[in-house]
Order: sequence, then C-alpha cells, then structure tokens
Amino acid sequence: MAISDPEEFDLVVLGGGPVGEHAVGRARKAGLETVLVEQELIGGECSYWACMPSKTLLRPGHVLGAARAVPGAREAVTGSIDVAAALARRDWMTADWDDSGQVEWVEGTGGHIARGHGHIVAERTVVVDSREGTRTLVARRAVLVATGSSAFIPPVPGLAATRHWDNRQVTAAHTVPRRLVVVGGGAVGVEMAQAWRRLGSVEVTIVEAGERLLANAEPFVGEQLAAALEREGITVLTRATITRVGRADDDAPVEVTLEGGRVVTGDEILVAAGRRPRTVDIGLEVLGLEPGSFLDVDEQLRVRAVPGAWLYAAGDVNGIALLTHMGKYQARIAVDAILGGSATADADASAVPAVVFTDPQVAWVGLTENAARDRGIDVGVATVKTQSVAAAAILGEGVEGTSQLVIDKSRGTVVGATFTGPDIAELLHSATIAVVAQVPLERLRHSVPSFPTLSEVWLELVDTALSI
Ligand SMILES: Cc1cc2nc3c(=O)[nH]c(=O)nc-3n(C[C@H](O)[C@H](O)[C@H](O)COP(=O)(O)OP(=O)(O)OC[C@H]3O[C@@H](n4cnc5c(N)ncnc54)[C@H](O)[C@@H]3O)c2cc1C
Repeated sequence: MAISDPEEFDLVVLGGGPVGEHAVGRARKAGLETVLVEQELIGGECSYWACMPSKTLLRPGHVLGAARAVPGAREAVTGSIDVAAALARRDWMTADWDDSGQVEWVEGTGGHIARGHGHIVAERTVVVDSREGTRTLVARRAVLVATGSSAFIPPVPGLAATRHWDNRQVTAAHTVPRRLVVVGGGAVGVEMAQAWRRLGSVEVTIVEAGERLLANAEPFVGEQLAAALEREGITVLTRATITRVGRADDDAPVEVTLEGGRVVTGDEILVAAGRRPRTVDIGLEVLGLEPGSFLDVDEQLRVRAVPGAWLYAAGDVNGIALLTHMGKYQARIAVDAILGGSATADADASAVPAVVFTDPQVAWVGLTENAARDRGIDVGVATVKTQSVAAAAILGEGVEGTSQLVIDKSRGTVVGATFTGPDIAELLHSATIAVVAQVPLERLRHSVPSFPTLSEVWLELVDTALSI
C-alpha cells in the first residue's frame, strides 16, 4: 500500500457532512488551504439518509393533506399517492446516493478532498486510509472534527441481533412495509411513522418508553401529535417498555414484546431511539480521550481536554444540538475562531430552533415552561389557538394548533416559543429572533404581521404576554 509524504494544509476537516462542508466553504472564503476527509459520501447523513430524504418522503402526504382541507381543491384529489413516483423523487433528491455534485462544489471552492477513513495520530496530524493507500495530513492551524453521529441501538434483549432498520434503511427503502414498528417517539420516529403510513403502510405502531411523544417539547405537543397520528391510523403506545425483540428468521415478521406481555408484530422495525457520536475509531485514545464519547467543547468549539487550541469539534459529534443548522452555526464560529476571531457560540444552547415536519407541524425554540421555571425565571405563559387567525381559515378546514410564548416577566422578554399546526414552521424564525435578540415585548408589539398570515398569532400572543 502506498504511503505518501506528509501533506500540509491550514485546516484539516475530518468528516464531510453538512457541517464539514460548511466549514470548508467558510475557510475557503477566508483563503485557508483546506482539506476535507470523508469515508463515505460528501454531504453526510443529512443529504442521503436524514434531513433531505425524510422531508422528501413526507412531502407528498403533506401536499395531499393540504389539498384535501380545501373544498374545491379536495374534489380534484381523486387518486392515491403514486408511491413509485414519490420514491423516485426521493432518489433524485439524494442524487441516487452519488456525491459527485457535492465533490464538484467542494472543489469549486478550491478545497481539497481526501477520500478514506481519517484518524488522528498526533497533534495536528490526521492519517487517511483508503484502498488507494495512506495519506498523512498535517494541519498548520487546526483540525476540525465533524464526524457526526449514527443511530443508537438500545440494549433491548434481541434487538441488535434482529434485522432492523435505522435512519439509513428507513429513508432509503424502495418498498413500503405493510407493517412498520417504530421504536422511539422522537422527531425521527414520528416523521417516519407518518411518512410511511401515508405512503401505504397498513399498520404503523410507535412504541415510546416515555410518557409522551417529542418529550423535549411542551407537553401539549406530544398530546396533540399523538391524537393527530392516531386519527390517521397510526397506533401510539407510550410508557411502553420493550422486553424482547426477535424474528424466527431474517425474513420472518418481527415480534416486539412489551412489559405486560403485549406483542406488536411488524414486517420491519425502525430503531429511532437516539444517536451516538462517531468517535470510536478516530484516534481519540492518542489524545487521552474516551473513544465513543461526545467531544466536549468550549464556546469557540475547541475540544476542552486538548491543549494547544488546535482541535475543534462541530456538529452532532459534540452533542450540543443534533441538528444541521446548529452544526453549521458551530462550523462558522469554529472557523472564525481558527482565523483568530473572538465570536463565541451561545454557551447554553438555550435558543435552539427545532421543527418536526409532521402534519401538524411542530416547531419550538428556547425554553419550555418547565425548563424556564427550573432556571428560576419569573415565568408567564401566553397561549393562542393557531386557528384563531384568518390565515388558518384560508389554509383550509380543520386547521388547528396551539401557539405559545414563555415569557420572562421580570425582564419583559420571550424565552421560549412553541407552535403546532399546518405550515407553522415558517413562524419559527420570528420567534428565534425574539428569543436570541431578547427583544422587549414592548418593542415586539410594533412588529406588525401581514394580513392574512399565520404570523398574526403574534398579535394576540404579545398582547396577552404584556397583560400577564
Ligand atoms: C432521519 C433524520 C432526519 C433528520 N432531519 C433533520 C432536519 O430536518 N433538520 C435538521 O436540522 N436536522 C435533521 N437531522 C439531523 C441531521 O441529520 C444532523 O444533525 C446532521 O446530519 C449532522 O451533520 P454533521 O455534519 O455533524 O454529521 P453527519 O451528517 O453525520 O456527517 C458526518 C460525516 O463524517 C463522515 N465520517 C465520520 N467519521 C469519519 C472518519 N473517521 N473519516 C472520514 N469520514 C468520517 C461520515 O461518513 C459522514 O459523512 C435528522 C437526522 C435524522 C437521523
């Protein structure tokens, strides 16, 4: 096997997901000589097995649902989803799992690519192994780890040894399972349950160990979402602990046994029970760090335990907020820090915006009411029915949801916001600005939303908040 001479770059980025790519773009704009190390597809989980295919699989059902809510349009919807066409569109969205477009983009920035598995062997030094040989990359300024995460498979008896799906198989499937069991009622679980139910799965069962779906959001979110999913024929089992999973053989149905003896049977089982960092084999032991753990970083994304300010970690791998937009934000802060800038990331990550693209959509940012109380904030809550504004009636019949602000009464600012309802994801950025910029409610009342948009919920929310 060929071993090349060490090659020097200003920045070595380990992992070419959205976060690594974004870092390369920013570094190249600033003129840093940069190399991106990727062992699979440039674009990472997000482009091929997560955000992009999952949202594409949900889209046909959303469009149909929106049309069916509107008399006049409803009558034009006479057929069912063309599943083959829907899956073909997903294949197009993932470029058939071919990353040449993204390679072109990286090379277009003037960035270099090193294909293969990278691992740190010494300070500022990454070795990349591939079939073509071994390359040694030395970073003049920094190494940025952006190796992301993969599915966590919980230690349920029988599960690991049973053929199962994780986010990769569920987003890349080419046939619709007749019966799908979903382990986990977080964002991935609820989105994929609804997508495949609408694409034709006859039985879909979500098995969630906790009290409700989307446990990190306000309690009303999980309740509303469970009711909506059940209305379309999805079974939602909460407080359900799995004691055993198994199949008689690889082609046999999967049997999921719950505490109490109930057995849920499926043709496929999706494990959507969280994520674990891809840090097992990237050389952390050389640095005295624990392989397999999330990388603990400071507010400039430097790995705390490593002296010398040469090792950074952004995106899923640091465990702060496992979302593409937050990872890219961190990449911007990290590259700016590598360039000598002083910008720091919001340390407690208390203003992370998140959207769950189910129907109804769910979107939230900042603190929930309980989290705000736990922090000792003088909490006030303003709640409005999303359907109270004219735009909801225009969207269609049966449009329902809740819009809520959590207020810091003593400071007169918004510390959290949650919205449920169709198309409410677009409301979220206004809330994010209000929370992050700590806009006083007294000023927010002068931000006038257009008529008739769903943003008009802000009028009553702010009025109510001011009167608390
Ligand atoms: C089903 C699903 C849907 C999601 N939907 C959304 C959404 O709608 N919006 C959102 O914001 N987030 C969403 N997420 C989360 C989002 O996918 C992640 O936050 C995002 O992909 C993280 O990006 P990353 O670059 O940190 O890591 P990744 O996307 O995991 O990329 C890491 C890359 O590093 C490479 N790599 C790892 N180790 C090595 C190594 N040693 N050598 C070389 N290369 C290596 C990997 O091959 C991979 O390409 C979703 C997640 C899932 C599972």
